[in-house]
Amino acid sequence: MFKLIPRLKPNYTFSDWLAVFNIFQKKSIECYEKEFSEKFENEYGVMFQHGRTGLYALLKVWGLDKDEVICPAYTCVVVPNAIVLSGNVPVFVDCAKDSFNMDIDLLEKAITEKTRAVIVTHIFGYPMDVIQVQDIIKSVEKKHGHKIYVIQDAAHSYGAKWNGELVSKFGDASIFGSNISKVINSIFGGMVITNSKETFEALISWRDKNTIKVGMIKSLKRFVYFIAVNIAFNSFVYGFVNWLERLGALDQFVKYFEEDKIYFPNDWDSFPSKIEARVGRNQLKKYDYLITQRVNSAKKWIQELQDKDVIFKDDIDGSTYSHCVALVEDRDKWLEAYRIKGIQLGIIIEYAIPYMKAYEKYRTKDFSISLEYSKKTINFPNWPR
Ligand SMILES: *Cc1c(COP(=O)(O)O)cnc(C)c1O
Repeated sequence: MFKLIPRLKPNYTFSDWLAVFNIFQKKSIECYEKEFSEKFENEYGVMFQHGRTGLYALLKVWGLDKDEVICPAYTCVVVPNAIVLSGNVPVFVDCAKDSFNMDIDLLEKAITEKTRAVIVTHIFGYPMDVIQVQDIIKSVEKKHGHKIYVIQDAAHSYGAKWNGELVSKFGDASIFGSNISKVINSIFGGMVITNSKETFEALISWRDKNTIKVGMIKSLKRFVYFIAVNIAFNSFVYGFVNWLERLGALDQFVKYFEEDKIYFPNDWDSFPSKIEARVGRNQLKKYDYLITQRVNSAKKWIQELQDKDVIFKDDIDGSTYSHCVALVEDRDKWLEAYRIKGIQLGIIIEYAIPYMKAYEKYRTKDFSISLEYSKKTINFPNWPR
């Protein structure tokens, strides 16, 4: 009665268990960084406890302070959180009408002489036109006479390509998140990759100075979390967990943001642990398989639902479908109809950031498309199964 296919599920198999227990593996973090940056075709990688920590570190090492950083209005709230907590000012850009990503014309208009960085997010695995973005940046850099950093937010878009080239090859750095809700994961964790030796060295030294090495206790905690995740995502257990969730009994555990607060989790500045790097390395080996499965599964959903009242956007080559997202009018009805069939649909981003209490003061205009998306998106489980 409780059996339920979860809206997301980390891919933990026997090889991940082996990785967890492989405590004699040497230089796990360095190896993970090297393998990861090679996979996504950059020279250098630096692992952090979270993707947002990596973003924060980038803004710090580039010396941004009270500067304007452009990001989408429709994105994960941890992104503007990192901008504000690093002492900078988020400037939001609405989505394009036909895309979940930023409108490129609006992006260009949002750039002022105070802009020092632009975060180009490829949401749900859909690539933005990185070539046009670079052209715009080049011309405004000339106009304003200073560098404007471009960060690819690839947390959803591992391996996404524009015109056959990885989006992570463009700009000054790319950030990735790898918690259990992402395409591949390292239990918790995030990565920054870059081709700039200078940025790489600055990040390594920032991490040495500003993060806390916690050792055994933390590894043990991560181990326990890994086991708990394996149990919780069993489809029978998950049905029960979801039942508790719907009663509201789990709010304190499952909410990853608060409407009225700009904050980081307690462990945001801890040094990543080796157990996480070991799992990350193993997941990276499975990456090609996992992403193919995800893309195929998304395409199947899209095919299956083509006559129904759902709108899929951004159906372009190079998408890696971290999520299979559609717009519907009556979201609750869809969630309920599928839940009865034993399938949990997700609501991946149910807010438009400038409309959240904590960000009201940064709302200088309307972001009507983001607002509409925040009320209408659902996602179909497309994890490999
Ligand atoms: C998950 C995510 C990040 C980074 O996430 P962390 O939880 O900090 O690792 C960044 N951008 C987007 C769009 C995300 O979904």
